Amino acid sequence: MTEFALYIHYPFCLSRCPYCGFATEVEDEKQSSLFREALLKELDRRAGEAPWKNGRLHSIYLGGGTPSLMPPDYLTRLLDEVHRCFNWPAGIEVTLEANPGTQDQQRFSAFRQVGVNRLSIGAQSFHPAELERLGRSHTPAEIEGAVQTARQAGFENVSLDLIYGVPDQTVGSFSASIHRALGLGIDHLSAYSLTIEPGTPFEERMKEGTLPPPDPDLAAAHFTELRSLMRQAGFEHYELTNFAKPGCFSRHNYAYWRRIPYLGLGTGAHSFDGQRRSWSPRDTRQYLARLKAGEDPVAGEETLTPDDELKELVYLSLRTRDGLDIALAGRTFTLETLAELLDAGFLVQLKDRLHIPEERWLLLDEIVVRMLNQSRLRST
Ligand code: SF4
Repeated sequence: MTEFALYIHYPFCLSRCPYCGFATEVEDEKQSSLFREALLKELDRRAGEAPWKNGRLHSIYLGGGTPSLMPPDYLTRLLDEVHRCFNWPAGIEVTLEANPGTQDQQRFSAFRQVGVNRLSIGAQSFHPAELERLGRSHTPAEIEGAVQTARQAGFENVSLDLIYGVPDQTVGSFSASIHRALGLGIDHLSAYSLTIEPGTPFEERMKEGTLPPPDPDLAAAHFTELRSLMRQAGFEHYELTNFAKPGCFSRHNYAYWRRIPYLGLGTGAHSFDGQRRSWSPRDTRQYLARLKAGEDPVAGEETLTPDDELKELVYLSLRTRDGLDIALAGRTFTLETLAELLDAGFLVQLKDRLHIPEERWLLLDEIVVRMLNQSRLRST
């Protein structure tokens, strides 16, 4: 029986943030209602296909977009269908992403009652000017309100997202946001460095010269502050962008990093069956048209070559504190080929694993490219 993680993408938001590169659009009642019906159809269809058929769930993640905009009755129906289609072990992690300003006690309580046991709240910053710069439609007070409402609704596992490296953000203002987040008694924090995604208004503004490009030195200073404050607060830095109180790490994200198969449903969602990756259209209209016509919602797929698999294994392993199993990597790398990186302190060996030292995690991409180049040089 295949064990897999289930990801469900809800592509609607109250407004569109100018930096966002996800498959999302502003909520429209008619479109979102059509989408919700199509999603149930897709679930039914994919549940009958190998390798998902009769599979066992590892975790469930409702992301987006803003899935907290889903009507609670619909979420009940959706999760009931998931129950019917797959083997759902008791107690698995079921996360729902929520945006501040979309919470109310009744809604959050309903989500909790239908089996959601973890909330991930998109705070991004507690600084009004930074929220405005990011085009967020909520206030710092609404973030606090969302966390309090989550607790009152019975959520014991609450995560917040923050963004750093925002133009005009100082180390002091980022540090103040981290303190505000910690002051709310959260269990988990994801912190992302701002990136300029292709096709976004931020990219346009950067090209016009009205938005400065991300400053890697500033992002590095923010990252150092982040690590220091989170460590002092007793959080474990278990992955490049993630910090958790002991025992509160995200099981679902671990599935991605460990290359456990995952099934993605909804607009733009990706699936991975262990060798083949496939994806649905990013455009909701195309997604709806395919399902309406009774067609396969999969818009594209690729089968990973051994080289792709190796790259992925190295990249995903080294972004976590577990690091890379030398025995697995040894097919391509030897400690000798990596001597330069080991000597320079970009990699360290602890027992049978290789790690990137935490303070150098921001250099992950460059280090992996150097590892792969060195292994290629060696084999030519
Ligand atoms: S709320 Fe999140 S998903 Fe929606 S547009 Fe903003 S960043 Fe993107």
